Amino acid sequence: MTNLTDLTIGEATQKLANKEISSVELTKVHLVEMENARVLNAFITETPERALADAEKSDARRAKGETLGALDGIPIANKDLYCTKGIRTTAASKILSKFIPPYESTVSQKLIDAGTVMLGKVNTDQFAMGGSTMTSYFGTTKNPWNLDLVPGGSSGGSAAAVAAGLCMAATGSDTGGSIRQPASFCGITGIKPTYGRCSRYGIVAFASSLDQAGPMARSVADCALMLGVMAGYDEKDSTVANVPVPDFTKVLTGDIRGKKIGIPKEYRLDGLNQDVQATWDKGIQLLKDAGAEIVEVSLPHTKYALPVYYIVACAEASSNLSRYDGVRYTTRVEGKNLDELYENSRTDGFGDEVVRRILLGTFVLSAGFYDAYYTRAQRVRRLIYNDFMEVFKVVDALLVPAAPTPALSEAEMKTMKPIDIYAGDVFTTPASLAGVPSLSLPVGLSQNGLPIGLQVIGKHFDENTVFQVADVLEKAANFNQKPHHVKG
Ligand code: GLN
Repeated sequence: MTNLTDLTIGEATQKLANKEISSVELTKVHLVEMENARVLNAFITETPERALADAEKSDARRAKGETLGALDGIPIANKDLYCTKGIRTTAASKILSKFIPPYESTVSQKLIDAGTVMLGKVNTDQFAMGGSTMTSYFGTTKNPWNLDLVPGGSSGGSAAAVAAGLCMAATGSDTGGSIRQPASFCGITGIKPTYGRCSRYGIVAFASSLDQAGPMARSVADCALMLGVMAGYDEKDSTVANVPVPDFTKVLTGDIRGKKIGIPKEYRLDGLNQDVQATWDKGIQLLKDAGAEIVEVSLPHTKYALPVYYIVACAEASSNLSRYDGVRYTTRVEGKNLDELYENSRTDGFGDEVVRRILLGTFVLSAGFYDAYYTRAQRVRRLIYNDFMEVFKVVDALLVPAAPTPALSEAEMKTMKPIDIYAGDVFTTPASLAGVPSLSLPVGLSQNGLPIGLQVIGKHFDENTVFQVADVLEKAANFNQKPHHVKG
């Protein structure tokens, strides 16, 4: 019998509909897997009672012949950046380690309304700042492919949990690559939708002009199902777009003949990791074989994306994180006066990487440097955006690597300078700055047997084409390797 924790959502839904399994049964096997895989440190908070209650409600609905749709009864996890009513939401920080939100994020509420089963809150880099989960106050999540390696980040808990079969899908968030890079490191699929596709209401803010919610799952079709539920207008977020949400699964036709796929020459970095290059070449060939037309294109301002991202993201973070002051929501360390209370609480509550970014952001926003750094970065951001608009006059989508390397080891990353760690975001930050949708899916393995993902990038609000191309690539690549089973 196939292991129930290996199923895609599509397969599980079929079994639920045929009454071969119940949601309670499906939920229980995942709860057991979560216990068996505690060595991964994927979850910050497990919510087994809530999960079983959700599953019982789903089964009761189904017994009456009712269902809330394709996700009814499906066990999922939420990145611990999504506020969940009555359930601790930490952003993997000390300062929010005791925060119990009195409200639910719009996206997680939509998933509740669709009948999903919430297994718990998964680990992330602290305030989503990082690419490894190493900045989490709750310790690093391990990569299920090799416990010495990081799962990527910031949505590393989501990626590890999905890859190891602890949940069928998870929410993630992506500011500069936090869905796509961990998906690549763990051999799963994740999409950062167009900026404005999903509501940011109730998701702990990092950089508001870049943050975007998105799903992580074990197939393109599962991501399409999840995004269909997560997306949509919300009066509680002024930046969410009021555009219709299509049924993203309808476009998975398997036919991309005649589609034009751009390969930007600026992404061909000197000395790029050979396994990544080989996987990219393989992806290009597979799309060509499927009848797509491959077009060499240019995104001339690509090389500025990293510095621009780190200026804009840190500037916005310094502003967003000013609300954590030791007075509301947060842990508190008293002081002789109000200023000292702020200072003591923030010094105690924020980790080093968060402090670094607040300082950087405050610096680039300070009166003397605002124009030289922040204004300039905003201008260059526009040029990066314009590059994408130009190439999308010619091509339907782009194919590029998700990350410059496969997963790195925690030991190696501990010796790296912040700036060298930031360089790992070279392939993901351009699409973030332009606000265009981008999906990462596993296409090959490195010579050491580690997964390598590629990104399919599309036009604003054209997730349809992204899913369509990615689905064809997924079937052609036939990536069916799984991480070694982890028992702790
Ligand atoms: N790794 C990037 C950073 O550290 C992206 C993080 C994210 O997308 N949340 O900022």
